[in-house]
Amino acid sequence: GDREHRIEVRIPPELQHAATEFNRMIRRINETEKAMEDLAHRDGLTQLLNRRAFDEALLEGFARVQRHGERLALLMLDIDHFKKINDTYGHSAGDDVLRNVARTLASDVRVFDRAFRVGGEEFAILLSGTDAVAARQTAERLRANVAAKSTTIDGGEVSVTISIGIATAAQAPAPAALVKAADAALYQAKRDGRNRVVVSDDAASPTDSMSHVAG
Ligand code: GH3
Ligand code: MG
Ligand code: MG
Repeated sequence: GDREHRIEVRIPPELQHAATEFNRMIRRINETEKAMEDLAHRDGLTQLLNRRAFDEALLEGFARVQRHGERLALLMLDIDHFKKINDTYGHSAGDDVLRNVARTLASDVRVFDRAFRVGGEEFAILLSGTDAVAARQTAERLRANVAAKSTTIDGGEVSVTISIGIATAAQAPAPAALVKAADAALYQAKRDGRNRVVVSDDAASPTDSMSHVAG
């Protein structure tokens, strides 16, 4: 079971071939294991990290919050009226839109490999070392980028918008509480009319209340 082990190739000479083969086999097992682990953490449709990867990253993020007092912000994103896209253009066109939104999110340098597809048309973004003000800036940029892009369907251009809820670990003491707070902010963004960013009440600084809704 020791994967670091290598057979000494020098002696005896008649075993050289077997030893080289053994070393090659171990290397291949390690590579396959790594590829499978990566596969288990990726979403097949969008190639973003999946829900499982999100759960792990959330725990890791909170460990750093507790150990080093690091900041952590969570963005919950949901495509607006996505059901209408499916109903109007079909499920396969809906998939194209989903892939396009995912690509737009992942193309942001701040977000690359921090974006997760956590549900059908729901995404999460975990930002380490980020406070509510910086998280809102990133969210606003993502919201505008998604709104500005379109997907070609049946020769026409179709665009969607996203709503975003934000919460930070400074107010939410545990992973589940952080998700709940960000979800509540997302729900508020939907109720306020969609295509906007809402920071969780607890996470918003007092001076920030004027910009509670953007978009
Ligand atoms: P809201 O603005 O309130 O979020 O409205 P909505 O229509 O986006 O929300 P709702 O939850 O009613 O609908 C989500 C839709 O997303 C329904 C479901 O069929 C669709 N969906 C979920 N996963 C996929 C997927 O992988 N591919 C496609 N094409 N559609 C999906
Ligand atoms: Mg949804
Ligand atoms: Mg939706």
